[in-house]
Amino acid sequence: AKRVGKGAYACYNDALHQAACARLDMEADLRRALRENEFVVFYQPIMRADDYGPSGYEALIRWMHPMRGMVSPLEFISVAERTGLIHDIGLWVLNQACREAASWQTEMTVSVNLSPIQFERPQLVDDVQQALVTSRLAPERLELEITESILLDSSQRNMTTLKALKALGVAIALDDFGTGYSSLHYLRSFPFDRIKIDRSFVDEICQSNEARAIIKAITSLGNSLDIKITAEGVEHLDQAEALQHEGCSHLQGYYFGRPAELVSEALTAGSAQPV
Ligand code: C2E
Ligand code: CA
Ligand code: CA
Ligand code: CA
Repeated sequence: AKRVGKGAYACYNDALHQAACARLDMEADLRRALRENEFVVFYQPIMRADDYGPSGYEALIRWMHPMRGMVSPLEFISVAERTGLIHDIGLWVLNQACREAASWQTEMTVSVNLSPIQFERPQLVDDVQQALVTSRLAPERLELEITESILLDSSQRNMTTLKALKALGVAIALDDFGTGYSSLHYLRSFPFDRIKIDRSFVDEICQSNEARAIIKAITSLGNSLDIKITAEGVEHLDQAEALQHEGCSHLQGYYFGRPAELVSEALTAGSAQPV
């Protein structure tokens, strides 16, 4: 029994060691990727629910790895957050998205995801202002997506930062709504421009009365507080119809368009007929 215990311990140690090594490797790899310009911003359309026309695009980072091909942000964002590299990566996405959006032939908005870690950087508000100035993108065309985790700890600092961002004239969206604590308190404490209902509710809207009732409650709250409601992860027409019926103002998902490098490609990559 002793030998088994010892073996298991050694094995556990080894696994920990391997995880640490993998993280170190990826950290070095991410640094190189930044230097070598291996990141690309993809764009996914956000549609108006009333006429299925595009109102803007969400910027989603991709890593074009020379050996591994396209790497999903789900694989590297958490490593970037743990190592602090998210500051540089986030800044790159912000500038790239503003620059590209400024060159679009339309006045559509661009939504950029901000990691909670980026709020630890005192210059965040300056960074955003600088990105707007250098790209000459009108502030009304930029939306920042945050998650409620930045509002969790009761420290006032993140709230102050959020208000300063809003004062620049950009819109603020609350992402992944319904997955965390989702206290209604957050909606009272900050004037969000948009709530994004998490994909897990949308997945179930056609099967679950509960999911549907929750979505209906969120949209009626949103409508009375003048907050736009986007449903994420819309993959089928019947979901789109149900979501529109329950009062969502905007829809986003593979049904309308997959993330693509060019906004013109993103719209045709969905299964719906382009408008
Ligand atoms: P998110 O902000 O919730 O973004 C939505 C994710 O859902 C995207 O995954 C998008 O491609 C995917 N999606 C969109 N429509 C559908 C659909 O109909 N069905 C399904 N199954 N999925 C759909 P992606 O691009 O892999 O990004 C994953 C997450 O990585 C994002 O979730 C966000 O949290 C993070 N992320 C992506 N880009 C950035 C970035 O530039 N900065 C930061 N901080 N995080 C980012
Ligand atoms: Ca998002
Ligand atoms: Ca989301
Ligand atoms: Ca997310």
